[in-house]
Amino acid sequence: MSMKFRRIGVLTSGGDAPGMNAAVRAVTRTAIAHGVEVMGIYEGYKGLINENMKLFGDRDVSNIINLGGTILYSDRCLEFKTEEGMRKAIETCRKNMIDGIVAIGGDGTFRGATDLTARGIPTIGIPGTIDNDITSTDYSIGFDTAMNTVIQMVDRLRDTCESHARCNVVEVMGRNAGYIALETGIAVGATAIVLRECPFDEAAALEKIKALKATGKRNFIVIVAEGVENYSEGFAKKIQAETGIETKFARLAHVVRGGSPTLRDRLMAARMGEEAVNLLLDGKSNLVVCERDSKIVAMDITYGQMLDRMYKGTLKDGDLDRFSEAEIEDMKAFCKMRSDWFDKLYQVANTISN
Ligand code: ADP
Repeated sequence: MSMKFRRIGVLTSGGDAPGMNAAVRAVTRTAIAHGVEVMGIYEGYKGLINENMKLFGDRDVSNIINLGGTILYSDRCLEFKTEEGMRKAIETCRKNMIDGIVAIGGDGTFRGATDLTARGIPTIGIPGTIDNDITSTDYSIGFDTAMNTVIQMVDRLRDTCESHARCNVVEVMGRNAGYIALETGIAVGATAIVLRECPFDEAAALEKIKALKATGKRNFIVIVAEGVENYSEGFAKKIQAETGIETKFARLAHVVRGGSPTLRDRLMAARMGEEAVNLLLDGKSNLVVCERDSKIVAMDITYGQMLDRMYKGTLKDGDLDRFSEAEIEDMKAFCKMRSDWFDKLYQVANTISN
């Protein structure tokens, strides 16, 4: 282990997620165990710009493993993207002897991490977003808690739908990604799941609801991912008009962003937090900690970003120029693995949704 680290900073940035606190705790405790001091940086990258921070001891992260939200607060800091903002952030690090940073957040947060690394402050990212939309990792902290909240809420809706012979269309978060919708859709026994990633045959879904009603089915749950824009509310009206089943609409929105983290999120936060500090102290930087096939691994942030763009079909000209043929082939195989997994799960959902 390199001994040059005096202090590391830890921050949470972008959309908050349950389990971020558990990750802050794991980072803090691991660093202190290695004799390295920890600076808790408030409000994401904004705290680096306006020097809003506190030296953390073990007790500063006491009693937070079970808390939702983030005790470090979060922010979407536009100034950080400017040269002037970046200059101030680096100056804060130098002045406060912050020799490395662990940044917990989503892909925007990781772009900030790359900028810091490029300017001499090695930074490691930990994926924290309920959306699970970071291609490089199988799992991001907050996903499990958010989904458990969704199934609790929707199970309640199902009770009342069953009593009144109703349908409920439920829109769930996920930004542009349908992971929450797909997995919770299966878990709540949804009659239909609507996602951006997979084609949806609306007419067939309406026919199916009518046919199921004829068999005596009383409750109908339809899950729609928020990424399918301007759809869910209108679809609820259409179901009622076409099937004669009274149909209600609910948007769970930010309610699923809060709450006490589940076991899975706390465990993942512990494993990823510990790994992030070890990587930093080993002299590594510009990496994102990932879970892959149940193992904790790390991937270069820039490689991960291009992989993400390839998967989402948003690659720009020149993005792949710096990568070898072999790396590009690996990226393609990785994307295929992800989309095969997704398609298979969607097929399972449809097979068992009657
Ligand atoms: P998330 O990390 O959840 O994707 P955002 O996209 O809002 O959330 O990013 C969080 C923060 O990361 C931003 O508010 C900004 O401070 C920083 N950030 C985002 N994009 C960049 C970028 N291109 N360069 C530097 N910093 C960035």
